Amino acid sequence: MTNKNMTNKKGVAIIGYGGMGGWHTDHAAKSDTVTLCGVYDILEERRELAKSKGFFAYDSEAAVLADPNVEIVVVVTPNDSHKAISIRAMEAGKNVICEKPVVMACADLQDIFDVANRTGKLFSVHQNRRWDVDYLAMKQLRDSGEIGEIFNVESRIHGSRGIPSDWRGEKEFGGGMMYDWGVHLIDQVLMIFAGETITDLYCRLDYITSNFITETECDNGFRMIIGFASGAYAHIEVGTYNFVSMPRFYLRGSKGTAIIHDWREKCQITACTAWHENDVLPIQTAAGLTKTMAPRDDVTTRTYEIDRPVSDVHDYYRNFCTAVDGKAQSFVQHDQLMRTLRLIELSFESHAKGEVLKFEMKI
Ligand code: NAD
Repeated sequence: MTNKNMTNKKGVAIIGYGGMGGWHTDHAAKSDTVTLCGVYDILEERRELAKSKGFFAYDSEAAVLADPNVEIVVVVTPNDSHKAISIRAMEAGKNVICEKPVVMACADLQDIFDVANRTGKLFSVHQNRRWDVDYLAMKQLRDSGEIGEIFNVESRIHGSRGIPSDWRGEKEFGGGMMYDWGVHLIDQVLMIFAGETITDLYCRLDYITSNFITETECDNGFRMIIGFASGAYAHIEVGTYNFVSMPRFYLRGSKGTAIIHDWREKCQITACTAWHENDVLPIQTAAGLTKTMAPRDDVTTRTYEIDRPVSDVHDYYRNFCTAVDGKAQSFVQHDQLMRTLRLIELSFESHAKGEVLKFEMKI
C-alpha cells in the first residue's frame, strides 16, 4: 500500500509504464487534481525504470487494485488488454481512465459500460486530442459561423515510416492506424459536426507498408468519407507512407475557406468579401487558359489568421475528478465512445465490401 494521501487530490495508479504510461505518470506526479500512488508494468525492467525515477512500483496488478489509496486506475497497456484490466479495476471499486482505443469491437465496449453501470464506477477514455488546438480552431469555425455554413472538412495526418515496429503492427494486440489514429480523428470530426445526422460512410484502408515492408496484417492508413444529412461531409485520412504531407485541416464554408498547413501553424482563412468580380484575367495553366481557376485578388477576398484557441489537456483529468465527485458530467461520454467505435467497425466493412454504407446515426 502506498502512503496515505494527505491532500484532497485523488490517488491514481498507472498500469502500463511504456511510452504513454510515462506521459500519464509525469502528468500525475505534478497534477493539481490527482496524486500519483504508483505504477505497475508487467515487465520488471519497466518497473525498475519507474523506481529509478523515484516512483513507487507495485509488483502486481492485484497490489494496485488492493491499495485503498488508489481511487483512479489509468490503463495504458496495448489495446487488446484494456477490457480485462478496466473491468477488474472497476470490480475492485476503482474509477477507470482507459487509453484509446478502449477496445476493437462495440460488443466489448458495451460489456465495459455494463460493468461501469453495475458498479457505479466512472469509466472514461483519454480522448486527449479533443484538446488539439488545430481541431479546436475547426470546431470554433463551425460553431461561430465565421465563414458561413460548412460544406466539408478534410482532416489529415501523414507520416512516412509505416506502422511503428511494436505491437501496433500486430493484429492480435489491436494494431493498425485505424485504431491508433483513426479513433482520434473520427472523434474530432464528430465533435465538429455535433447535431448532424450521419447518412453514409465510405472507407478505403491502406495495406501499403504491410504488403512490402513490415509484413503485418494491420492497416497502415486509410481514407474515409462520412456524409451528413445536411449535405456536408468529412474526409479523414491517415497515412504512414507519405513523403510529402497534405495540410492538417482544410475546411470550406459558404463565406470562405480555412486551412491549417501543419500542427505548428495557425489557421489561415481566406474569406470572400464580394462574390462578383470585374474583368477576371485568364491565367495560363499547362497547355491552356482558364478564368474559372484563376486565383482571386484582394479586392474580393481577405486573407487573415485566427488566434489559436486556448487549450489545456490537463482539463481532461480535472473534469474526470469532478465527475467522480458527481459535480460535473464527464467530457467524454459513453455514447460518443460507442459511435466512434461503430464507425470504425463500419469502415472495415465498407473496405471489405468496396461499398458506400448507408445508415442513419444522429451525433
Ligand atoms: P508501449 O508499448 O510503449 O507501452 C505499453 C506498456 O504496457 C509496456 O511497458 C508493457 O510492458 C506494458 N504492459 C503490457 N501488458 C501489460 C499488462 N497486462 N499489465 C501491465 N503492463 C502491461 O505502448 P504505448 O505507446 O504506451 O501505448 C499504450 C496505450 O496508450 C495504447 O492503448 C495506445 O493506443 C495508447 N496511446 C495513446 C496516446 C494518446 O495520445 N492518447 C498516445 C500513445 C499511445
